[in-house]
Amino acid sequence: MEQLLLVRYGEIYLKGLNRPYFLKALVSRVREAVGPVGGKVWLKDARIFVGEITDMEDCIRRVTRVFGVHSVCPAVRLDKADFDAVCAQAVRLMEGLTGTFKVEARRSDKRYPMDSPQINAEVGGYILEHCPGLKVDVHHPDHVMSVEIRDQAYLYVRVIPGAGGMPVGTGGKAALLLSGGIDSPVAGYMIAKRGVELCAVHFWSFPYTSERAKEKVIDLARILSESSCGIRVHVVPFTDIQLQIHEKCPEDYTTLIMRRFMMRIAERIARQEGAEALITGESIGQVASQTMTALNMTNQVVQMPVFRPLIGFDKIDIIRYAEKIGTYETSCLPYEDCCTVFTPRHPATHPKLDKILQGEAALDGERLIEEALAATEVVTLPERA
Ligand code: ATP
Ligand code: MG
Repeated sequence: MEQLLLVRYGEIYLKGLNRPYFLKALVSRVREAVGPVGGKVWLKDARIFVGEITDMEDCIRRVTRVFGVHSVCPAVRLDKADFDAVCAQAVRLMEGLTGTFKVEARRSDKRYPMDSPQINAEVGGYILEHCPGLKVDVHHPDHVMSVEIRDQAYLYVRVIPGAGGMPVGTGGKAALLLSGGIDSPVAGYMIAKRGVELCAVHFWSFPYTSERAKEKVIDLARILSESSCGIRVHVVPFTDIQLQIHEKCPEDYTTLIMRRFMMRIAERIARQEGAEALITGESIGQVASQTMTALNMTNQVVQMPVFRPLIGFDKIDIIRYAEKIGTYETSCLPYEDCCTVFTPRHPATHPKLDKILQGEAALDGERLIEEALAATEVVTLPERA
């Protein structure tokens, strides 16, 4: 008898000829997730298993956050020839549970002497006999005792939901503009969940934004890196650009011009990183720089697609999402962001392109961008121990 984790995947199931490719990626991601605690991961009959587990709860925590995992079931594997042992094990798994149950047998070994309805009846009868707190309900049971007869017998009751989505690396790579706020970590998580590898770009205006503000962004990236298989964060010194904009551009246009610089720099870093798209945490109308007109103006300076997964989300829903993925608390730490430091009193909500271009003409844009890129610091997460 051995304790295993049975890993179930969702959407990959829908893949036709490409399924092996997605499965292979998922196995690699699960392997990376349990690697530090030494579990063994294998694929058999289109099922992923984790074995040689020392700490089951820790293993569950690690595997459920892997994108592409729909759910996991802690299972017991035992000799299928010893049917008495199968029944006894089923009782052990159901002990202490109350309410209703049913047994759901699946038999991929068609030479097994009992068929699925017979296994259901036998195991079900045995459970009824030995677990006084349980009654049968085949339509809406509180608990399902799964019995899978394969190379051996696999039994499980508990089903723990996973993160869902697609395995990271199957959807290409994108660069996340990561501020210290609530929105951008959620946006990054959503895109990573679709199988996209992330790198992050943070614009840092030292000393207007502190060392602590940078640490906070690194902490957010670290949280994201746990489910997205590592992230490189590019910390771009942004002070000179902001001061120049502040000094030389019309005040009501400073935020928008600043955002255009962010996009240009992020796109160049994305190219270096082999990323094909940018991601931001913008949502329509949240602030002046996120009116539809303003978003158009920021889009115009880049060629790459810009993904804004939160575009139709209310702030309250974004907060709920941030709580769920564990970034909210860190996002709420009170360190300033470069956007808040230089905020104009009356930012333009219906900006005109000619005024933007006029403002930008007063700057030596290319030199500023190159200097910022040359001084960019790169932090790789998670740090190697
Ligand atoms: P967030 O909660 O993500 O900070 P926000 O509501 O504060 O969002 P803005 O400050 O206008 O919105 O920023 C919009 C988007 O621009 C952010 O979601 C993020 O993608 C990007 N951004 C803003 N500031 C920075 C920064 N300092 N470094 C990198 N990206 C940034
Ligand atoms: Mg922000």
